[in-house]
Formats: sequence, C-alpha cells, structure tokens
Amino acid sequence: MSSEIIKHNPFQSMIDRFNIAADILNLDDSIKQKLQRPEKQITVNFSITLNNGNVQNFEGYRVIHNTALGPSKGGIRYDTAVNLDEVKALAAWMTWKSAVTGIPFGGAKGGIICDPRNHSKTELEKITRAYTKALADIFGPEKDVPAPDMGTGPDEMGWLMDEFSILHGRPIHAVVTGKHLHSGGSLGRVEATGRGVSIITLLALEKLKIRPARATAAIQGFGNVGLHSALFLHEKGVKIVAVSDVSEAFYNPNGINIPELILYYNLNNKTIKGYPNSVAIKHEDLLLLDVDVLIPAAKEDVITQKNAGDIQARIIVEGANGPVASDAAQILHDKNILVVPDILANAGGVTVSYFEWLQNSLLESWRISQINKRLEDILEKGFETVFRVAVKHNVTPRIAAYIIALKKVAETQSVKEVALEAPLFKQN
Ligand code: GLU
Repeated sequence: MSSEIIKHNPFQSMIDRFNIAADILNLDDSIKQKLQRPEKQITVNFSITLNNGNVQNFEGYRVIHNTALGPSKGGIRYDTAVNLDEVKALAAWMTWKSAVTGIPFGGAKGGIICDPRNHSKTELEKITRAYTKALADIFGPEKDVPAPDMGTGPDEMGWLMDEFSILHGRPIHAVVTGKHLHSGGSLGRVEATGRGVSIITLLALEKLKIRPARATAAIQGFGNVGLHSALFLHEKGVKIVAVSDVSEAFYNPNGINIPELILYYNLNNKTIKGYPNSVAIKHEDLLLLDVDVLIPAAKEDVITQKNAGDIQARIIVEGANGPVASDAAQILHDKNILVVPDILANAGGVTVSYFEWLQNSLLESWRISQINKRLEDILEKGFETVFRVAVKHNVTPRIAAYIIALKKVAETQSVKEVALEAPLFKQN
C-alpha cells in the first residue's frame, strides 16, 4: 500500500499500542474489549445567536473513556477538525495518562467543531454556556471534570464553571480545572503542561548523558504547551534553535531568545509571524532538523511512516497528544531515537489540574513552590517507573507506559465489575 493513501486515525494508533501492551500482559479478551471502548460517548447539538443576528448550529462531543480510577478527567477542544474518533482517542489517552502518573482520575475528552479565532468573546461565551447546559448531567466534581485543551483556556473554563453553578444553584468550583485564579484556579496551572514537558525533557537528556547547556531543541507549536516548554528549557540553558506556529516556522542556529520572542508574540496578537531575528523555514522541515530534542507540541499524527525515516533528533518528547502515529514507531526505534510518550511527557497539565481540583474540594490554596515540587516528584516517579518497566519487558517507553496504565486500570476495573468472573489475565 502506498503511504500516500494511509489516512491516520488517532484512535487506531491508540488501539495499536493498547494491543501490544495487552498482549504482553496477557490480558483477558473481555476486559481488553471493555477497555478499548469508551464507557459513554455523547453528541450534542446546540445553537447560539451570533453577533450579526444569525443563528448558528454547533455539534459537540464528550467521551468518557473510563472511570475505574476515579472521576473522568480531560480537556475540551475547540477546533474545526474535531471529530468523534479523535475525541475517543484523546479520552482514552487521558485514562492512561492519569493511570501512569498515579492520579486518581479516569479519562474523558470533549470537543466542539468550531474555529475559535472566528468568534468574538461573546460568541465563545455563548457556545461554552450552551455546551455546558447540554452536558449538565454529565459533568460534576465527582463525575466528570473538564479542563482546557486546544482552542480553550481559562475564560472558557470560567464560563463553564459559572453556568454549571447557576444550573445547580450554588458555586461548584471543582467541576472544572484550568480556571482563572479569580474563579478558583490554581497557581501554576497555565504553565503546568509546558513545565512538565521541560522536566521530562531534562530527565531524557540526563538518560542520554547530554548536558542541558550543550543541548539543542526544536519545538513545533507555540501555543500554551510549546511556549512554556520553550521558556523553561531556555531557562535551563537548552538552546532552542527552531520554533513554529500555524503561521510560520523559523530557525536560528545560534539559539532563539525565547523571552524576547514571547514578548513579541504577546504584542503581536498571539502569533510569532514576522519575528525578525531568524530565518523562515518550511513547517515540515522543522521536524527534520539535526537537534538533540524535538518537541512536537501542536497536534496528532505529524510524525508518520512518511517522514519518520528523515528525523534526525536523538530524543522526541511528545508535548502534544498523539503526534507520533503508530506506523512510525518501528522506524524511530530502528533509528535508536528515544521517544518519550505523550501520556507521560505532557501529563504535567492533568497533574496540576488534580491539584486544582483538590484545592477546590478542600477549600485550600497552595503555594507555587509546593505545587511545582509535587509536580516534579510525580513526573520524576512516572519517568523512573516507565523506564524501569521498559527495561524489564524490553519494550519502548511508550509500550511500557501503556503496560503500567493498562495493568492498573484493568485490575481496578475487574474489582468493580461483579459480573466479571473470567480471570483477568489469560492462564497459559
Ligand atoms: N487537555 C490537557 C491534556 O490533554 C489537560 C487535561 C486536564 O487537565 O484535565 O492533558
């Protein structure tokens, strides 16, 4: 089959990895099937009146993949490319992400098909409130707890919290995380995913005995994750030689001054377009640069069978969810490229979401030093465990992460399912 006609499906990538881990664990077929499928998937349709007086209809989703380990947790994505298969994959990755880092949450994800850049703030507020109303029975601090994802942020989370609270007649802060501080958000949440990516990158560099001050990195995506990963790595002395966003990609072999770029980005309508001190390159070429670390922090399936053979980085740290398609895995492995999987690499976001949820539930507010320290401890432990299991089973860190997560979820699930009398692991 020609690579041209391979259409990548993130849900299939998830299933491919799941099956490898399930086979290593000898997981019984019935529990295997159960964990491949979401517990619940909901499609909602709602309309809002736009600023120009027209009424527009929107389709949105919420997929609850699994709740064995706790209330389901996961972001809401606003993007024109949102579809049910993508949301299903993202929901399952949230289950594995929480399980691998030891956070007591299940996994979920939501999305609305829309282009947030084409809507005013008032329209985005209406869209968010209508979506919340449509899913008011699903959300809840002990049931399903949304958070930001691509195209959403603290504003949307604040509107969701407010709408949910109005519907229930009392303030319910813990229904959503990633809120503004004044709406009950947590210190450190905005930068948490990027901070986590940088912590994990430093650990990966250490594994390969590369000193941060001698390392180079290329970062795809300058949204919340890419920007903060770049900033924290720059602060640790890593030379960021290339960055990109949807509008532009550029390269500077001497290293980009990241704080200066962030200033430019903030004054330039949140885009890096036109930043003067570098050379523009093609978007796809950023992925192929000869760097120590490549951080794809934009979207799914950017590294596939098609370009994997040309990747020169020594380490790939998955800032985005699912940036490496499953058909690229063997090629990267054969090239001896260390891939740190999304469900570990970008788990900093959900980890600090957990801290926010805890603070809301306990009516506490924690210091930033306390938050960052706990985040670091959790990610370090996750990293060590993943690499230990990888050595034990002679598998990639990704399959190791799936083995850890799957085992944990399967064991808890089987205790919950009274009807499940078959053995959890096949006897042979
Ligand atoms: N959307 C983020 C993720 O993919 C954060 C989810 C959360 O904090 O619940 O991990």
